[in-house]
Amino acid sequence: MCKNKHFETDAIRTQTPSSDQREHSTPLYMTSSFTFESAEHARAMFASEMEGNIYSRYSNPNTDEFITKMCRLEGAKAGVATASGMAGIFSTLAGLLSQGDHILASRSLFGSSHQILSQILPRWGISFTYADTDKPKSWESLIRSNTKILFLETPSNPGLDLIDLEWAGMFAKSHNLIYVVDNCFATPYLQRPIEYGADIVTHSATKFIDGQGRAIGGVIVGSEKTMEQIQFFARHTGPSMSPFNAWLFSKSLETLPVRMDRHCDNAGRLAEFLGDHSNVNFVKYPHHKDHPQYELAKKQMKRGGGVVCFEIAGGFEKAKSFIDRIELLSRSANLGDTRTIVTHPASTTHSKLTGEERKAVGITPGLIRIAVGLEHADDIVKDVEQALR
Ligand SMILES: *Cc1c(COP(=O)(O)O)cnc(C)c1O
Repeated sequence: MCKNKHFETDAIRTQTPSSDQREHSTPLYMTSSFTFESAEHARAMFASEMEGNIYSRYSNPNTDEFITKMCRLEGAKAGVATASGMAGIFSTLAGLLSQGDHILASRSLFGSSHQILSQILPRWGISFTYADTDKPKSWESLIRSNTKILFLETPSNPGLDLIDLEWAGMFAKSHNLIYVVDNCFATPYLQRPIEYGADIVTHSATKFIDGQGRAIGGVIVGSEKTMEQIQFFARHTGPSMSPFNAWLFSKSLETLPVRMDRHCDNAGRLAEFLGDHSNVNFVKYPHHKDHPQYELAKKQMKRGGGVVCFEIAGGFEKAKSFIDRIELLSRSANLGDTRTIVTHPASTTHSKLTGEERKAVGITPGLIRIAVGLEHADDIVKDVEQALR
């Protein structure tokens, strides 16, 4: 689908055909339903004999444009847009799995994904096992006869651990698993899991896809066959994205490559600064030479992304005082915004995990996550420098 044009061009030129107003930029279609020319037209639409919109829970020109564009950018064939990233992940798992099925998932998962696996799906008889991202050889022994999905997140939040997408693709294929990747941190501009065999890619559009901290949304894309069941699930259970948010996200995608390049420039610069700082125990950034999986990052990610982690010397209290000393940057739990955001995972986003669980996913008491924004790099580094002093 994406063969003839470049990523940048697809991100801009994938558009709903213009109306008889000949508008240049796609307008907002705020309508809950669409009309039929005749009783026969209505019958044919409901019988799926014709393409078109019936009701915005099923489809809408704005959500269609956003989905089609995401499909082109990820190299997928079909998709569903949802009200949040979590609605997308839940629709994927609930749409594909039945009672008795088992999920093999990477241990370093987004907090709410962890809650869905450990608290919600087990109530319907769907179980899971965590696989350690640094020991892929051990995964073989975790496969059960009822394992149906391999669910991975790479780079992981907040630890920036990577999983070899190509290796995982072969592993999934050899065990006949549906291969699902949460590609939120990288975006399709930096990493395209489908090229490595992924069946489904999920996104929180809230992050880099919107990129401006304005709206919550999610999108799932994959092959036509795998997406069918998820589309059915979403159509009838109703986690649909609003046309307004789809309109925002589709516009945002027009600037995704430009924004991601700047996020990467700034994050790379900050990682270099932190790597040399005496109050920093370690810095973790996929394209920084100190990242334990630097070679893999170079192979599967075009650039390092917009998130940097580091461990401050002195642990929990020093990390909290670093957060308090920040002057320009934002104290918030989001990421993928134009504004740089600092987070202390151990006391906030990951405070509900036990100490052991945090340790297993690399969240030490002194770990700080910086979601690097688009301000001038000098100003970002300067604020971090004064807070570290
Ligand atoms: C934020 C996030 C999600 C959840 O997305 P929401 O839009 O907040 O529902 C899922 N996965 C990752 C990696 C995230 O960062």
